[in-house]
Amino acid sequence: MAKLADVFSEKERTNWLKSWLAIDIAKSGLQHLVKTEAQNFHSSIYTSIFSMQTPLVCCSTANLLTCPTPKVCKIWRKTCSMHDPASNYTRPCPVNICDKVMGQIANNHRYRGPSWKCTSAQRWASHPWEIAKCYFPEDGYDKQMSFEDTDFNGIISFLLNFKPFDQRFSFSIKQKPTDPACLLTKARDICKAVRHTSVCKVTDIDLNDYFTTLTDLLGDPTSLAHDSSAQDAVIKLQQLKQDTFKITTAEMCNGLKEAQQILQKVEHTAEEAIDEIKKYILTCTDDIKSQTGICKEEILYSRDQCKTEIVTQTVSCKKILDSHTTTCKNEIEKKTNTCKNEFDDHIIKCKSEFDNNAAKYKEELKEASENVLHFITVDEYNPCNYELAREGKYIILFYTFRWFLEKYERNKTGILLI
Ligand SMILES: [Zn+2]
Ligand SMILES: [Zn+2]
Repeated sequence: MAKLADVFSEKERTNWLKSWLAIDIAKSGLQHLVKTEAQNFHSSIYTSIFSMQTPLVCCSTANLLTCPTPKVCKIWRKTCSMHDPASNYTRPCPVNICDKVMGQIANNHRYRGPSWKCTSAQRWASHPWEIAKCYFPEDGYDKQMSFEDTDFNGIISFLLNFKPFDQRFSFSIKQKPTDPACLLTKARDICKAVRHTSVCKVTDIDLNDYFTTLTDLLGDPTSLAHDSSAQDAVIKLQQLKQDTFKITTAEMCNGLKEAQQILQKVEHTAEEAIDEIKKYILTCTDDIKSQTGICKEEILYSRDQCKTEIVTQTVSCKKILDSHTTTCKNEIEKKTNTCKNEFDDHIIKCKSEFDNNAAKYKEELKEASENVLHFITVDEYNPCNYELAREGKYIILFYTFRWFLEKYERNKTGILLI
């Protein structure tokens, strides 16, 4: 983990680095508010107002501007840098939309007018950020295509120049020259002071003021106090102020590279600071490389360990599984043999019983069939015959079955002698 205090030998230079990081953190805290507002404005123009499809590529910015437009057209020998060749001449929008969009953009600018130089009207229909860029400073923002690409100065300009932000802050953005600076103006001044330093130093008092201004801005009660990205940034600013902000070596390296690029652009570069940054970046890079090497070795070692462990466990499991399989197999065979024997015994027993019973019944049937039935008919009203029959050695059945009557003699009561 990198430490800010390790970069520079002087505390005021460390303060400058902290200011630089504080600005970056503050920018991240504004992203939700700014992106939402840019998107809403784009939607309100193209969806609500015109409620019709605009071709994705329509008029160029030059087509929509009259010539000469102050701060845009540079005319030399009757040739305009903006409006020549002929394809860039001023003309009405063929679908009667782009010029209305341009009017909306101009109406929502608080001050002198939009920065037409850094926007491309051909991207307005498809890129809300291209419209937001009309409220940025005039120079240096033509290639910024998103919030992430844009620096804090550009973002603060959008907040200061775009009128609908009036509804998003508790303080008045439009001020008289005699009024004390609002929080947005103060934030822009911090950015200018940190970026355009010639010595790369910030005093403790100034640093403390920067933290106060940026924290107050991100805690503004109207919108940002309820915005999670703004409140995350407030926590980070607090940590940075108290030296508890955690930054990885790689993040530090990236931050320093950006700081270095800014320093190289400013008019009076602080060579000494740049040298110190360069040295620290080299130290960080070596640190990252050595850490990468160590990590790689550890990963390879762990991988080999895991591989060996897996092989060992696999062999062990296989042995256990084989042993268990053999045990189960023996157990199954044993059980199968026992069942088979019991089953065979049972079959023999059943067969024997069946044979015995079959012989017995066969014998009884034979006996019964030999005692042929004597059937005598008796007069239903002759009790003597009935009594005679009863006294005999036979079992008497008094039959009334219709089938029996039909077979032998109808309308007679009979006695069956067995
Ligand atoms: Zn022109
Ligand atoms: Zn057009």
